[in-house]
Amino acid sequence: MNVLVLNAGSSSLKFQVISTDQDRIRQDTDERLCRGAMERIGGEAIVTVETKSGPRQKFTAPIKDINAGLDYLLRWLVSDQSGVPEVRNLSDIQAVGHRVVHGGEVFQESVLIDDKVIAGIEECIDLAPLHNPTNLRGIRAVRDLIGRDTPQVAVFDTAFHTTIPEQAYLYALPYHLYRRHRIRRYGFHGTSHRYVAYRYRLSRGIAREATNIITMHLGNGCSATAIRGGRSVDTSMGMTPLEGLVMGTRSGDLDPAILTLIATKEGMTAHGVESMLLTQSGLLGISGLTNDMRVLQEELKDHDDRRVRLAIEIFSYRARKYIGAMMASMGGADAIIFTGGIGENAPDIRARICTGLEWAGVQIDDVRNQQTRGKLAEIGVEGSKLPVWVIPTDEELLIARDTVRCVLGLPHPA
Ligand code: ADP
Repeated sequence: MNVLVLNAGSSSLKFQVISTDQDRIRQDTDERLCRGAMERIGGEAIVTVETKSGPRQKFTAPIKDINAGLDYLLRWLVSDQSGVPEVRNLSDIQAVGHRVVHGGEVFQESVLIDDKVIAGIEECIDLAPLHNPTNLRGIRAVRDLIGRDTPQVAVFDTAFHTTIPEQAYLYALPYHLYRRHRIRRYGFHGTSHRYVAYRYRLSRGIAREATNIITMHLGNGCSATAIRGGRSVDTSMGMTPLEGLVMGTRSGDLDPAILTLIATKEGMTAHGVESMLLTQSGLLGISGLTNDMRVLQEELKDHDDRRVRLAIEIFSYRARKYIGAMMASMGGADAIIFTGGIGENAPDIRARICTGLEWAGVQIDDVRNQQTRGKLAEIGVEGSKLPVWVIPTDEELLIARDTVRCVLGLPHPA
């Protein structure tokens, strides 16, 4: 089955075509036919595409919205220039899987999309006003351009965390606010945490129920999850993806009284402050330079800039603190897993995070750690009490597999 995987953002459309089916899932032999992204939709968009064999292509195209983006993508896919011979007609795309950010309390696993599901995703717009509407636009664009007969599946960022118990998801606010407005912690990056947990137990040859790990997704957005018995029991992101760890441009945790103080002192609206916490804070806010960890690390090496150092130190300290919190919440873990752009590719940051966790049995092997970039490996000292792993994430693969499972009516084991 050729599955088109779509991740529709406010001004971007990320896509992959993955060939997979029940046998390929079982044998772990799914095949990625192409991947790419359209950035800056709304004007002259930048399109990057990569196929199995050909070189990476980058070009620009005027793309006014998601519909136009999908139209452009489909025309490219079926054309001779695409380098994806498996897709000659639209009928060669047998299903479409969407990343949907917020499934609220309604969606506990991936689902085949029908009008009822669309209404359910619409109901969650309140909870994710920036994301769910664009995800829905992607779903409608597929209906318009590929047709209603092509099955579509929604895979929710929040679904994996629906097993978190009440004591971990409720805020200590007046309870009626939860009842009235569904204000609670939901957690995000669920597909990534679930995927690396699956890879970990596959590598170790253990059962899902025996999987007790802390997964650290450190990318532009960052989150930590406690997984006990293969299920998420706590996570660092909350009602929105703003809570928890320090991120590229997001503050993570802070004293809520600061919001009013900033609004008053700086003459800002509540929305203005929230937007600052989302887009001007985190690594960018502290360093005053960039949200890009790679650039920060180079800058630290070349100039030893004080604020750059602080940004990296605060980022690493918060991550370490959350590992401790997750250990306590789940009653001890068997391993720590790093994933995401930073988690997979930045050995120095992993080392900084792990320094100070020796009490818990963490001992990083410097050579193994430095040699591990973008590949699955154990980076702890042989025989250390709490092993540390790097496991590259692949949310698109999990979306493709869930899509196949939903279309064929199979259970969701991973
Ligand atoms: P997103 O959350 O948008 O999917 P990624 O998971 O790709 O983002 O992570 C992006 C982050 O990973 C950026 O801060 C980037 O600098 C960082 N990163 C990627 N490669 C490296 C590297 N080799 N060294 C340090 N940081 C890296």
